[in-house]
Amino acid sequence: MTIDNYNFAGKKAIVRVDFNVPLNEEGKITDDTRIRGALPTLKKVLADGGALIIMSHMGKPKGKVNAKYSLSQIVDAVSEKLGVAVQFAPDCAKAAEAAAALKPGEVLMLENLRFYPEEEGKPVGIDKEDPAYNDAKKAMKESQKEFAKTLASYADCYINDAFGTAHRRHASTAVVADYFDADNKMLGYLMEKEVQAVDNILKDIKRPFTAIMGGSKVSTKIGIIENLMDKVDNLILCGGMTYTFAKAQGGHIGKSIVEDDKLELALDIMAQAKAKGVNLVLGTDCVAADDFSNDANTQVVPAGAIPEGWEGLDAGPETRKLFAAAIEGAKTILWNGPAGVFEFDNFTDGSRAIAEAIAKATSEGAFSLIGGGDSVACINKFGMADKVSYISTGGGALLEAIEGKVLPGVAAIKGE
Ligand code: AMP
Repeated sequence: MTIDNYNFAGKKAIVRVDFNVPLNEEGKITDDTRIRGALPTLKKVLADGGALIIMSHMGKPKGKVNAKYSLSQIVDAVSEKLGVAVQFAPDCAKAAEAAAALKPGEVLMLENLRFYPEEEGKPVGIDKEDPAYNDAKKAMKESQKEFAKTLASYADCYINDAFGTAHRRHASTAVVADYFDADNKMLGYLMEKEVQAVDNILKDIKRPFTAIMGGSKVSTKIGIIENLMDKVDNLILCGGMTYTFAKAQGGHIGKSIVEDDKLELALDIMAQAKAKGVNLVLGTDCVAADDFSNDANTQVVPAGAIPEGWEGLDAGPETRKLFAAAIEGAKTILWNGPAGVFEFDNFTDGSRAIAEAIAKATSEGAFSLIGGGDSVACINKFGMADKVSYISTGGGALLEAIEGKVLPGVAAIKGE
């Protein structure tokens, strides 16, 4: 079922959203992007004449009630955005009466799902090494099913619009879907967009396809790099991870960030690219600094000739041109991870060159997907968010999807 094909008139929909918004000391929302992201789905249900039961997690209360993570703090903000006075159920597992009383157009928000350990389904207070752990895990899986069944009992249909947690098999993100038939469960609009964006880069690829992978470590990106190797035409590797490649090739990297246990892996990636005919683009020069700070002294040096006591913090001018050339003319672009320490204003040039090249290619018809917390922060810092095709809202979920993993939250609905 799809949300557009479903008529919610007279129905109660339970919707898993990601309202894990950042709050300040006074409990006020500092960034409401996630709430705004779910509004199209929530408004569609209400516009059809349905009633809404909204559920989410907030923070990591680890299965215990903790006022700091109470969703009651955001009821007013959600009411204001929806234009409906949202009711609040202070115990998400004891909301049957409040849900039953809901009339068309009314909205009930449940308290933080993670106040119950059943939401995440991990046994609490027992060590993995403990011989009784497996039994505790089994018992918890059973109570997780009961918890999910309770949530399901509140509504006629289920919508998952929480992409940020789609890579988790939690009660509200996946298990609950087992209690609805295929005609009464669906992805929300935000989830549909995210799934489509991932399909654009993994399935319906328009060529050439350039992927740009950056960030501090190769170890955290290896799953993605390997999955992309079979799909891309150009693979740009940038940021801190490239010093591991420079060292592996016998270069001098001074005190640049490096993973000494990944030198062979770096050489293996280079060999794989060659064997598969992928144009692997690694920087040839870098901006080296004598200190890890914005005000450090700098010099441009060849990527494999960084003097002792200096560290590479950004891509050099030649490298920026190489990157832009590999992005120019691309029809599919994925960017994950910055090309330098972009948090320091003096080391943003590499990332900016990438962002500008992506914006240009996008204006010429490319599909560009920006994902992963830091590249999103980067594109926002440059004020270029509206110049790319799609900015993913999911950190870990997006990365797992690009690695080619099936997301439990999607599979629970689409059955893939
Ligand atoms: P990741 O979390 O692995 O995606 O990496 C993002 C982080 O990598 C950002 O905080 C950047 O500041 C950092 N980073 C990028 N390039 C470098 C570099 N050359 N040296 C140290 N850190 C870097």
